[in-house]
Amino acid sequence: MPPRRRSPPRFIADAMLGSFARKLRIFGFDTAYFKEERDPELVRRVRLERRVLLTADRALAAQVRRSNRRVILLQGETDRARMQSLILGFLEVGLALDRGAPRCSTCNGRLRTLDRRHAGGLVPTATLARHRYFYRCSTCGKVYWRGAHWDRLRRLERLFEGGAKGTGS
Ligand SMILES: [Zn+2]
Repeated sequence: MPPRRRSPPRFIADAMLGSFARKLRIFGFDTAYFKEERDPELVRRVRLERRVLLTADRALAAQVRRSNRRVILLQGETDRARMQSLILGFLEVGLALDRGAPRCSTCNGRLRTLDRRHAGGLVPTATLARHRYFYRCSTCGKVYWRGAHWDRLRRLERLFEGGAKGTGS
């Protein structure tokens, strides 16, 4: 039997997790975000799109687990606590800790590298002077660069590099 092809997990986050979902996209996870409050529709999308559900709602998590779909119950109120429980959740549901390339935080589209020469007019002049590389969403056109916001996110992202180690702190 050929080895099973491993690809990064795809998530769907429930309506309470919008800001967390946007961070996961930047970290390279294909993360759909479900804005509606109605659970049946969310559960339907989990099934149809074969995504792993992310939720902080115990009852919803139990329901989805009963239908043999993968779900990770996020604990804690802060992004850091949720990220740690996500990493432990990877192990519980048998996912590899693989990530893809960064995605658009707004729409989950793929980002393409955009050379500075092509970024003129798309970003403020001062930003253009300070950065060499930019990224552009292939779906919605939003332009990204590694500014202060990106540096703050890096602190959270490092949790992935440590894997499940040190999650007790
Ligand atoms: Zn986009």
